[in-house]
Amino acid sequence: MITRLAILGATGSVGTQALDVVRAHPDLLRVTALQAKRRGARLDGLAAEFGARSLLGETDLDTFVTADDVDLVLVATPGIAGLVPTLAALEAGKSIALANKEVLVTGGHLVRAACGGAGPRLRPIDSEHCALWQCLVGERSSEIERVTLTASGGPFRDLPQAELRRVTPEQALRHPTWRMGPKVTIDSATLANKGYEVIEARWLYDLPYERIKVVIHPQSIVHALVEFVDGSVKAQLAAPDMRLPIQYALLNERHLPGPAARLDLVSAGRLDFRGVEPGRYPCFEVVLETARSNDLGAMIGLSAADEVAVERFLEGELDFLMIADLLRRGAELGARLARTAAPGLAEIFSIDAGVRAALRAVPASA
Ligand code: MG
Repeated sequence: MITRLAILGATGSVGTQALDVVRAHPDLLRVTALQAKRRGARLDGLAAEFGARSLLGETDLDTFVTADDVDLVLVATPGIAGLVPTLAALEAGKSIALANKEVLVTGGHLVRAACGGAGPRLRPIDSEHCALWQCLVGERSSEIERVTLTASGGPFRDLPQAELRRVTPEQALRHPTWRMGPKVTIDSATLANKGYEVIEARWLYDLPYERIKVVIHPQSIVHALVEFVDGSVKAQLAAPDMRLPIQYALLNERHLPGPAARLDLVSAGRLDFRGVEPGRYPCFEVVLETARSNDLGAMIGLSAADEVAVERFLEGELDFLMIADLLRRGAELGARLARTAAPGLAEIFSIDAGVRAALRAVPASA
C-alpha cells in the first residue's frame, strides 16, 4: 500500500534527504503535499517533480496537512511552528514522522495526550530516537533499566574551556559528524540539542529523567543503547546518515534497501565513549535542570530563548557562552508567565512570544 506523504520543511536538510528516500521507494511512498518557509523556486521545482500541491510560508499549515490526500506528515520545519500542524494532523487521524525538536520540548504533554507517545502514529526522526525505537521493538517497557543517548560532543569537545567564549559562528557551524540545519548545528555545539533529545525520549517512551543517560561518543556510530534489568545492553549502530532514520520512520519500522551510507567497522576502527565533562556544556546543564523541574512553562520559555539566542549568536551579537545565560533567563521568565501547570496551545504561544520579546531586548555582548 502506498503511503501518501506531506512534507513540512521540504527544502531544508531533513526534507531534502526525505525526498531521496521517496525517490528510492516509488512503490511505497508518494509525496502529495510540500511546504517550505522560503526558497519558492526550489519548492516549485519539487512540486512539479512529484506532482504535489505546495505551500510557501507558514500560514494555514494545519489545513495543509489535514487534507484527504495525506496519510503521513513529515514535520521537518524547525521551531515552534511545527506544533500546530502536528497536533492538527494527529487529531485528524494522520500519522506523524517528527524531525522537529521544539514540538515535544514545548508541547510533549499535548502530543502524548493526542497519541500516547511513540508508535506507528508518532515516529521519531532523529538518529538517537530511531536507535531507541529499533532496540525496543518486541521488548517490554517494564524490563528496561535505562536508556543511553550518545552525543558527538560537537566541534568544541576538545577545545580548552577558557577559549569557548571566543568561538565564532563559522566554527560552531562546522559539525564533526553530521550535516544539519544551522539551529540544530549550534544546538549540537552547545549540547542543548542533547538535552532536548532527553526530553523527547521522556515523552516518546514515558521514561523518567533519571533513567535517561547521555554519553559522549565522537564517532557518531552507536546512536543509542538500551539496558535491560538483567544487565543485557542492546545498541544500534549505523553510519551517521540521516536518510536511515528518515527511511525507517517513513516506512514504519521496516529495514529495506535505501540510499543511506553503509557502516564499515574496520574503517571506523575504534569507538570511544566518555562522560559529559562538567562545565563544558552549560546549555546542556540548563536544559536538563529545567526539564527535571517538570515546570512546562519554564521549558517553553527556554526553547523560545534558544531560538532567539542562536539567531543572535549567528548574527554576531552574542558570544557563545551568552547562549546559556539566555536559556536560563528564558526558563525563569517562562515559569513566571505560565498560568497553568500544563499549558494549552494558546498559552504556549503566549509564553513563547513574551520570552522572545524580552530576550531580543537583552543587550549584545561587549
Ligand atoms: Mg540527534
